[in-house]
Amino acid sequence: MKRRTGQDRSITRHWKPATQAVRGGTMRSEFGETSEAIFLTSGYAYDCAGDAAARFAGEQEGMTYSRLQNPTVAMLEERIALLEGAEACRTMATGMAAMTAALLCQLQQGDHVVAGRAAFGSCRWLTDTLLPKFGIETTIIDARDPQQFEDAAKANTKLFFFETPANPTMDVVDLEAVCGIARARGIRTLVDNAFATPALQRPLDFGADIVAYSATKMMDGQGRVLAGAVTGSEDFITNTLLPFTRNTGPTLSAFNAWVVLKGLETLDLRITRQSENALKVGRFLEGRVPRINFPGLPSHKQHNLAMRQMVAAGPIFSFEVDGGRTQAHALLDALELVDISNNIGDSRSLMTHPSSTTHSGVAEEKRIEMGVTEGMLRLNVGLEDPEDVIADLDQALGRAGL
Ligand SMILES: *Cc1c(COP(=O)(O)O)cnc(C)c1O
Repeated sequence: MKRRTGQDRSITRHWKPATQAVRGGTMRSEFGETSEAIFLTSGYAYDCAGDAAARFAGEQEGMTYSRLQNPTVAMLEERIALLEGAEACRTMATGMAAMTAALLCQLQQGDHVVAGRAAFGSCRWLTDTLLPKFGIETTIIDARDPQQFEDAAKANTKLFFFETPANPTMDVVDLEAVCGIARARGIRTLVDNAFATPALQRPLDFGADIVAYSATKMMDGQGRVLAGAVTGSEDFITNTLLPFTRNTGPTLSAFNAWVVLKGLETLDLRITRQSENALKVGRFLEGRVPRINFPGLPSHKQHNLAMRQMVAAGPIFSFEVDGGRTQAHALLDALELVDISNNIGDSRSLMTHPSSTTHSGVAEEKRIEMGVTEGMLRLNVGLEDPEDVIADLDQALGRAGL
C-alpha cells in the first residue's frame, strides 16, 4: 500500500509545511519502521540479469549504485523538494558541492554570469576564479539594487547568482524584482538560500528558477554534518543537473542524509525560536555597537523588503566595531558562553570575525568593496536563553572597551 511504503506527490504536496517537514518523503521498508532507515549500501542486487539490464536502461524502477541513488538520500531529497515547493531536488556532499554543480552543470565557455558581490567567501571564489578559468565571464554587482542586474545583463548572460540575506553583510536582494528582470530576458536565477531556508523564504514563489543550499547550516541545525542541495524544475534537475552530478559524484552519504532528515523535522521550531532570540540580542546590541547589519531590526534600511519576502529575519546577523581587527578579536577573546566559531545555523551561539576567517581568502580590496570590514563580527544566535547570550555579550563588550 502506497501510504505505508512510499508516498504520492499529488497528496503530499498539499500537506502543510509542518506535516511535510515530519513526514514528507518517508519510504518505509517491509519492517514498518517509524523513523526513516539509514541505507548504508553502495550497491543493489538484482533478481536476474535482465532486471539489471532493464534498470540500467531506465526501463525498470529501482536503484543501481549509491553514487546515483540511495533510499535514505531520496527521502531527504523529496522532503526538501516538498518544503521548497520545488518539482525536484538533488542533495550533494556539501553546500559548496551544490553551488559548484548548480553553476557548472548549466554553463559553458562564452557564457556570462551576473553575481552579487556580498556572498559566502567560497561562492566568490567560484565566480571570481573558477568560472573565468573555463572561459565563463562574470560581472560582480551590488545585488541590493535590481537595476544593476538589468544594466550588467548582456546577450550571452545565462545566469543571475546571489544570496539573500547575504553572508556576512546581510544584504537583502529583492527576489521579485530581480527574478522578474531575469525572466523578461530569458536568464535563469540561482539563489543561495542557506541563511533563510524554506522555513523563512521560498525564492521559487518569487520567480526564481533554482534554489541551492548549504544544508550544513540551519537544515542540520546542530552542527553535526555537511550537506548541500539543489532544487528546481524536474526538467532542470533531470536533464541539466543530473548528467553532471551522476558522472562527477559529489554525492551525499546516506548517514549524513539521515541526520539532515531528522534536522528538518525541527527546522521550523528552531529557526522560529532562534529568529526571536536573535531579535532580542540584536535590540540589545543596537544600543551598544556603532553599526549593526540585521534586516530584522526596523532601523535596517532593507527591513521592509526583508519582511515582505521572509517569514522572520533568521538567527544570523553582523555588526561592526570601530577599533578594527584588534577590537573585534578582543571582543571574541572576552566571550565566555558564545563560542568563537565560523559555523552558522547551529543551535549554539557562535561568533566569528569574517575578514580573518570565512572571507580571509577574498582579496582585501574585494572584501572592502563587499562591505566586510576589519571591525565586522558575525553572530549566529542559538537556542540558549537570550538573556544569557546578552549577559555574555555585555561583559565581553565591556572588556573590549565598548
Ligand atoms: C556555508 C555556506 C555555503 C557553503 O556550504 P558548505 O556546506 O560549508 O560547503 C554556501 N553559501 C552560504 C551562504 C553559506 O553560508
